[in-house]
Amino acid sequence: MDVTHLLDSLNDAQRRSVTAPLQNLLVLAGAGSGKTRVLVHRIAWLIETEGLSPYSILAVTFTNKAAREMRGRIEQLLGISTQGMWVGTFHGLAHRLLRAHWKDAGLQDNFQIMDSDDQLRLIKRLCKEHNLDDTRWPPRQIQWFINAQKDEGLRSKHLERSADPYQRTMVDLYQAYEEACERGGMIDFGELLLRSLELLRDRAPALLQHYRERFRYVLVDEFQDTNAIQYAWLRLLCQGEQKLMAVGDDDQSIYGWRGARIENIQSLGDHFPGTETVRLEQNYRSTQSILKTANAVIQHNTDRLGKQLWTDGREGEPVSLYSAFNEQDEARFIVDQISQWIEQGNRRDESAILYRSNAQSRVLEEALIRSGVPYRIYGGQRFYDRLEIKNALAYLRLLANRDDDTAMERIINVPTRGIGTRTLELIRERARHEGISMWRAANEITELKQLPARASNALQGFLNLINQMGTDADALSLHEQTDLVIKASGLIEHHEKEKGEKGQSRIENLEELVTATRQFASQWERENADENTSLLAAFLDQAALDAGEAQADSHTDSVQLMTLHSAKGLEFPLVFMTGMEEGLFPHSMSAEEPGRLEEERRLCYVGITRAMQKLYFTLAESRRLHGQEKINRPSRFIREIPETLIEEVRLNSTVRRPYSSGYQNQNSRLFAQPNYETGSADDTQVYLGQRVRHPKFGEGLVINLEGSGPKARVEINFDDAGSKWLVVGFAKLESL
Ligand code: ATP
Ligand code: MG
Repeated sequence: MDVTHLLDSLNDAQRRSVTAPLQNLLVLAGAGSGKTRVLVHRIAWLIETEGLSPYSILAVTFTNKAAREMRGRIEQLLGISTQGMWVGTFHGLAHRLLRAHWKDAGLQDNFQIMDSDDQLRLIKRLCKEHNLDDTRWPPRQIQWFINAQKDEGLRSKHLERSADPYQRTMVDLYQAYEEACERGGMIDFGELLLRSLELLRDRAPALLQHYRERFRYVLVDEFQDTNAIQYAWLRLLCQGEQKLMAVGDDDQSIYGWRGARIENIQSLGDHFPGTETVRLEQNYRSTQSILKTANAVIQHNTDRLGKQLWTDGREGEPVSLYSAFNEQDEARFIVDQISQWIEQGNRRDESAILYRSNAQSRVLEEALIRSGVPYRIYGGQRFYDRLEIKNALAYLRLLANRDDDTAMERIINVPTRGIGTRTLELIRERARHEGISMWRAANEITELKQLPARASNALQGFLNLINQMGTDADALSLHEQTDLVIKASGLIEHHEKEKGEKGQSRIENLEELVTATRQFASQWERENADENTSLLAAFLDQAALDAGEAQADSHTDSVQLMTLHSAKGLEFPLVFMTGMEEGLFPHSMSAEEPGRLEEERRLCYVGITRAMQKLYFTLAESRRLHGQEKINRPSRFIREIPETLIEEVRLNSTVRRPYSSGYQNQNSRLFAQPNYETGSADDTQVYLGQRVRHPKFGEGLVINLEGSGPKARVEINFDDAGSKWLVVGFAKLESL
């Protein structure tokens, strides 16, 4: 059999990993060294030469986008269809298992996936029911607690109710949360994994046997980011004859905050006997300049397994840094650079703008829109997260399952139909008391005539509306149902009343949803012809699961916007890493803990190594974010890069005008202190952006000013002591 096409494009170490006998294998290697390529070729190799059936392969990737790409590559390499093959994310695969075996898993057949917003809403409701004050018990903290337990494989019944009131309340709420999910037939992301682990481990040993016999070879990409429960899942599946191939890079572990365990890499050999480790050292992705920059940053981390990474590629253009005047200027600069890049005959989707926090995207988006540059966002305020879309989906969900309380809460009075808080409270109260869903409670309340006529009519109106929609939708296809829902619900009309662009764009989005369902249906029928899940349920799951990876308008050539986290595993010829400022990146949350700081640095390494040809760092000397204006110092990550590797881009004029064009490269890296005219506190001699020394707190940067004279207050971001407000007259500040 001629298999040279599988090996031709590989180096020796890669070839060794691809052709290794059936055994446990760990490929540990730096960014861009071909790990994912090896994984794909290995699948093809096993099918072609070892005679493994595509059915016997289970491949886990990090994003749905990566999974789709993987399928495409395998089909291309082998000229076969990958239909029966299980390729997906941990969540996606767990979901597939649960849909197929919902009964064994103890779920309702129409269970719905809750995204993190739904989850938070439910938790808020439970807090109210338990009379918890949300300043003392912030719902987000409870959400974090619940998710962290699930990631460790723990249910409320496993947790001790200690004497500590904090712990006890958390556990009580976790239990109430579990019960509410059970009643409503809803499962959150963590539950997908936990439930499917329990399904195989505890509930259905025969199923476990079945899948163990079926999956002979399990492959995991981005292994460094598997958490405890995912690892347990892998161990459960791969006991006995099954073999595992894991590929990963300890320097790219960026999900520690979500329970990912880098130690899984180290302990792999203990749990999977005979694991052979292969290292790849040649980088094929980036120019010398980019790779040197990445290495310069990551070498500041301790605790590395240590790897050499080299390339025999071109030196390439130097990495550039642009210090913008403010965030508008930063966005403007990026759009200018991209426009030039396009003019040189490149494609838009070969460029990516990366940021640390979702909130940074808005200004970038606006600049792109102003210049008419199509763009696409992965993650963040994504299509399925938009208010109007979530409302429409909630109607669809309620049609699929009347007991979906989260959906009911969301739209019972959207658009407004005279159902007040009083009525809602009554419904909640009854639901809780009787242990039934809100839908049932609402029905009972109207039957029992417990409400004043007006409120009762309003509620009855809503119940009739949903029932009528249900009847009408019955014979319709998915996209027709969607069309029905957005019109009959009154959502379109509701947004028509909204003024300006906003309402218009919401209507366009709703219309886009109809298109999205139509596209989904045809894709679903192609890929999953053998499964008998309802199309609507599948679509709703997909919308919740897709994590913004696929937007409805995915076909046009557009600039790619995403957080650094969601850029993992991807590559782009042109990359912008934005907001390179202390406090933003590294994120202020990570400043205190050395472990977190190292994780931020790995994130920086991930960002840099996405770039193939050209990398820009940008920062804003003054930035308005979350409604606050801040002056930040350049990120320490920038300062960790030797000056010789970075070329600073400066405006080609003496006066900085945010909207002027014409930038000029210089080899200097002066971080001249900006001379701010506004916000200075007169005679106190303190101004924004000034470096000062405090006798106790040490050196810091003035980031905020209030008032004037000796009573003026300043906020200083101290290098070691964090940010503090001080009164200028007392603070004994020394200018540096
Ligand atoms: P990451 O750590 O970022 O996930 P990776 O190790 O998975 O990176 P790949 O994405 O598999 O790396 O490969 C990086 C790039 O190098 C890809 O464009 C890939 O096609 C290319 N590449 C990998 N190996 C070779 C090779 N032997 N010859 C030519 N190109 C290669
Ligand atoms: Mg990869």
